[in-house]
Amino acid sequence: MENQIPAAVVPAERCTYCNTEIKAEDTFCTQCGYPVKGTETEQNHFISEREIQEIDLFTYNKSLRQATNTLYYLSGIFVFAALIYFGLHKDDPDVVAVVITNIIMAAIFLVLGSYSKRKPLACLVSGLSLYVIVQVLNAVVSPTSLLQGILVKIIIIGYMIRGIKSAMDVEKIRKENNIA
Ligand SMILES: [Zn+2]
Repeated sequence: MENQIPAAVVPAERCTYCNTEIKAEDTFCTQCGYPVKGTETEQNHFISEREIQEIDLFTYNKSLRQATNTLYYLSGIFVFAALIYFGLHKDDPDVVAVVITNIIMAAIFLVLGSYSKRKPLACLVSGLSLYVIVQVLNAVVSPTSLLQGILVKIIIIGYMIRGIKSAMDVEKIRKENNIA
């Protein structure tokens, strides 16, 4: 393998931005696109553009995580609510229906959570709509159910709206950066 080393070793030039080795004839770094032969203004412009993209990517990942977590947490809340309800109302005739409804909701939110990495906004909006529809249906069947655990319901809806905001940030950054 030693014979692969060239006889006259020219000190390799490296990209100022990403430290990738570059050829003398390169105008731009082949790795990151840094204008190695550009003016100082061009080089500074490249660096500041890159920084903005990196901050966006950070916000993007954070927003995506928040949106996805919202759905997973809510799935857990439905399971938890089913257990609590079962513990408190074991002898009620409708206990099975309530527990099954909660488990189905938990499963749906779990599925939405796993799809939300690709389509966060659609998943969050579906989750919120589904949740509201179930509350309305419950209220039609038994009007007093609307007020049961009203505080928890408000917190859940508020939390989902926050998730929708994160999902909207994700879509915005995707559009700006052409992320598919
Ligand atoms: Zn570079």
